[in-house]
Amino acid sequence: MHPFHNGPLRSLEYFNFPPQADCNIRDDPYSAAAHAYYQPTPPKVSSPDHSSSHLSTLSLKTPPCPLCKGQKFGFTAYFHNTKIFFEPPHELLRFVEKSYYLRDRLTSLLVTYTMHDIEQNRVQAIEKEINAWQQEVLSLVQDVVCSSDFELDFTHLDRAKAWAFEMAKQLKEHTWGGMRLEMPKGRLLVLKKEFRMCWEEVWKGFMVDQRSARDAMNARTSTWVENSGAEFTG
Ligand SMILES: [Zn+2]
Repeated sequence: MHPFHNGPLRSLEYFNFPPQADCNIRDDPYSAAAHAYYQPTPPKVSSPDHSSSHLSTLSLKTPPCPLCKGQKFGFTAYFHNTKIFFEPPHELLRFVEKSYYLRDRLTSLLVTYTMHDIEQNRVQAIEKEINAWQQEVLSLVQDVVCSSDFELDFTHLDRAKAWAFEMAKQLKEHTWGGMRLEMPKGRLLVLKKEFRMCWEEVWKGFMVDQRSARDAMNARTSTWVENSGAEFTG
């Protein structure tokens, strides 16, 4: 069963998000100068395949960008790949990195609990672990929404959330001894890729919506300047 669903756009209330003022994630540590420094660099990445092993290989060829350096992962090859992003999503770095942690955590849960026998006295503890992962996914969704000061289409976030919740549900059913979560060879890689692609759509959508908002603002400003000019000269 494909875990995606195409749900309707949800309101902030649906996610039970705190008001924007509570979200203290607006600080931007990156200077405009450093940002400008990297803009003219032509992308060296030609393949949209950016699995982590591939990513590290490409990182060797692409000069590392200081704005792409996370605490654990570097994202220069990924963020500066213009086949994926029209401009590097530097401000999303901490969220992208969080999604990588969550992907690795999911991998660990899947390997530990679907490829090995489950000790029956640990079922409740395992369920807690799965719920904690699901909660962290929800937090990431919430953080991304809070970080947007423009109208953000929730479609991709909704899908990423639905995918994770479905995965957690299947994993819990497996743990309880219900429907087995089969893991034939290659399935783990497919799931990891699905998780990553869900979030990549979120990052891409975020950048597009942000650009649209910026363009609309610029258009309003120039109209206002033109009209003001007409008043004074006319
Ligand atoms: Zn960068």
